[in-house]
Amino acid sequence: NETVYPFGGGAPHVDARQKDKTVTGGKGANLAEMAAIGLPVPPGFTITTEECVRYLAEGGAFPESLRASVDKALAHIEKAVGKRFGDAADPLLVSVRSGARVSMPGMMDTVLNLGLNDATVEGLATVSGDERFAWDSYRRFIQMYSDVVLGLDHGLFEEALEIAKEDRGYFADTEMAAEDWRELVARYRAIVDQELGAPFPQDVTEQLWGAIRAVFDSWDSDRAKVYRRLNDIPADWGTAVNVQAMVFGNMGDTSATGVAFTRDPATGERAYFGEWLVNAQGEDVVAGIRTPQYLTRAAREAAGARPLSMEEAMPEAYGELARVFDLLESHYRDMQDIEFTVERGKLWMLQTRSGKRTAKAALKMAVDMTGEGLIDERTAILRVDPMALDQLLHPTLDPAAARDVLTTGLPASPGAASGRIVLDADTAENWVARGEKVILVRVETSPEDIHGMHAAQGILTARGGMTSHAAVVARGMGRCCVSGASAVSIDLSARTLRIAGRDMAEGDILTLDGSTGQVMAGEVATIEPELVGDFGTLMEWADRHRIMKVRTNAETPADCRMARQFGAEGIGLCRTEHMFFDAGRISAVRQMILAEDEAGRRRALALLLPEQRADFAEIFRVMAGLPCTIRLLDPPLHEFLPRTEAEFAELAEVTGYGVDHLRRRAEELHEFNPMLGHRGCRLGITYPEIYEMQARAIYEAACDVADEGGAAPVPEIMVPLVATRRELAILRALIDRVAEAVFAERGQRLEYLVGTMIELPRAALMAGDIAHEARFFSFGTNDLTQTALGVSRDDAGRFLSQYVEQGIFPRDPFVSLDVDGVGELVRIAAERGRGSVPGLKLGICGEHGGDPASIAFCQEVGLDYVSASPYRVPIARLAAAQAAL
Ligand code: PEP
Ligand code: MG
Repeated sequence: NETVYPFGGGAPHVDARQKDKTVTGGKGANLAEMAAIGLPVPPGFTITTEECVRYLAEGGAFPESLRASVDKALAHIEKAVGKRFGDAADPLLVSVRSGARVSMPGMMDTVLNLGLNDATVEGLATVSGDERFAWDSYRRFIQMYSDVVLGLDHGLFEEALEIAKEDRGYFADTEMAAEDWRELVARYRAIVDQELGAPFPQDVTEQLWGAIRAVFDSWDSDRAKVYRRLNDIPADWGTAVNVQAMVFGNMGDTSATGVAFTRDPATGERAYFGEWLVNAQGEDVVAGIRTPQYLTRAAREAAGARPLSMEEAMPEAYGELARVFDLLESHYRDMQDIEFTVERGKLWMLQTRSGKRTAKAALKMAVDMTGEGLIDERTAILRVDPMALDQLLHPTLDPAAARDVLTTGLPASPGAASGRIVLDADTAENWVARGEKVILVRVETSPEDIHGMHAAQGILTARGGMTSHAAVVARGMGRCCVSGASAVSIDLSARTLRIAGRDMAEGDILTLDGSTGQVMAGEVATIEPELVGDFGTLMEWADRHRIMKVRTNAETPADCRMARQFGAEGIGLCRTEHMFFDAGRISAVRQMILAEDEAGRRRALALLLPEQRADFAEIFRVMAGLPCTIRLLDPPLHEFLPRTEAEFAELAEVTGYGVDHLRRRAEELHEFNPMLGHRGCRLGITYPEIYEMQARAIYEAACDVADEGGAAPVPEIMVPLVATRRELAILRALIDRVAEAVFAERGQRLEYLVGTMIELPRAALMAGDIAHEARFFSFGTNDLTQTALGVSRDDAGRFLSQYVEQGIFPRDPFVSLDVDGVGELVRIAAERGRGSVPGLKLGICGEHGGDPASIAFCQEVGLDYVSASPYRVPIARLAAAQAAL
């Protein structure tokens, strides 16, 4: 297999491996593909991700054959461009960029203008006829290379540039003349000498290998690790390296550089969307150093901006760009995110990729493109990331609420957010850890701010456009973001800020509207989302294609109502213990637990019966005939015990027992390992009166609601933490007995099912046996994960992130099912259960029921339904459809 692939400049035919992102990375694969369809791509080559993995595995040693392959590929570029690398008269310059399988914005490093040294800079000046350009390029190169490859602080170079300007009385970089840049280069070289004790490398080959090494190494940088963890990207993918002939956007006023989307990435609107800068190079646009200009005349006019759009300033290059946009969309059948450069009037494509988009835009584009005939319904369903829907399932600002608008920036990432102002990423993380909601306010963000952006509810920046780091990352994370709000000025040392003349301080409350760019003082009221428009359309399509049903985990009428609005087709798990914690009941629950004998327990349970009955009746009403799985009491009793002095005193008052007596009982109930202790069906076995009361409440409520007319409830009574057939047999008999008693009293019969959770390894293995007593199984994968891995779900937080970082688990197994291990138990239980009872109803009610990857597994194993928390129901509907396709 090839380890280095040339592209562009008449490179040989592009094969399937070269187009495979897992081999050549996203950037490399798309560059090759663009070149193959005849678009203007500067010639270059890609070193595969496999070489990176090999390099890292070898502890930073380049694979044996790599040098020869790179030499050969470099010769390809030299031939295509007609220049030689390191040639003092007319040098080839290259860019070196990383490109992983998926884009990791701002995470990996880039070096531009590589190949410049004291000799080649003179050649570049002569050939380009532009001495200023040559020396500006050289100083940019030294600065970037020193930062990225040599590990020097880029602040040193910024400072030297500031001093150089100050000395000369200049204000802007554009005032620096060729001679000024030349002098600055000397200063830069001196900085390198001083900091490194060695000169800046003059050997272009050494420069190239240094840059390749830096890109490989950047895969394991701290910020890349953080990004991977937040985005569930495996550590073993590695990154490809792309080396490409430089084209220059900084060769005067007929040159430019820009970033564009074929449709609006925030709204999904079908309009070219982008930003560009005249006479600028590569990173200037994204870095937010200069505020970029609009691409189209319409966008410029809509924003009331003055600097000319590209459409107006460079009509020919713009026309060519528009043609390329259309070609790319019809080729990739998706919205593209593009980087381009215009060098003296000629357009060059530097990158294309499927563009990151907000959930709203994803839905609109999927539905629109289906209407345009670009994609079909199935592709539309597969196109939308289920998890991204989360962004739309949360409240937006109430249009009727009063707004104290301070200023308006760019609507970089939609959604609404209120929180306390924080001025740096660490503070954001710390305040969030203590339970605050925060808005991160920065001049501009950089990859070092990722953890703070993730912690924050929203992000506000003073500088940077719609494609700035803050905007791109926020959209990817689904965080609300307003960027480029130039009326914001920050005084970091005083921890204060001024927004359009209003003084504020860290800790003050701010509200952002990422859909309009408005920045408001104080908190603004929000409204609940509705699944209408494109969302509704895509959900309808998803429902047509999915096989599994989607239920919800809910126990309050409000949650049940919300879940039904989101499309839940029943309740998969009603955790009855949550009802025990209500203020009015906890005292009766405590009386029951602390009672000395059965008679005492029954007295307390009699108090709880009407309460539970009313709860269940309300749920049955909301669910209107849909199946409702109600789980009998599960948690260890000690969870309900009084803790504070006041709680003990109150209990003493109602029970008539002394506080000392109650304390002694509480101590007796103490368990060393309550999660493996007196909980689940063990409570039902030892205190049958508890389950008796609960079963009675369920049946009585069902009869009450059936009497009201309308659809009769279908209770599915579920026994937790079963390990053996005999446990379930005993409890099932009890539940059936109560049913007979209630039906006799009420003179009516209702349909109901008794089933069990499968949440212990023994239950999974003995499922064939247990199935004889069960009408359904519901996989409690939270406990099953805990018990199969022997990892406490309550304590795992301390070490699991390390496990994920070191690749021991690809993802947190409590979030995404450990398919290999825990999944195997699920598979065995499903097979054995249905082996005994063909067609046995199977579902899942652990947290994994709302995780798209786990849902795909559930489909594969043949479950009948998944159950997820209300906000996850739409996510599960879409994921279930994707799993079925
Ligand atoms: C489970 O264990 O997966 C489950 C759904 O029950 P709980 O989370 O209440 O223990
Ligand atoms: Mg459980």
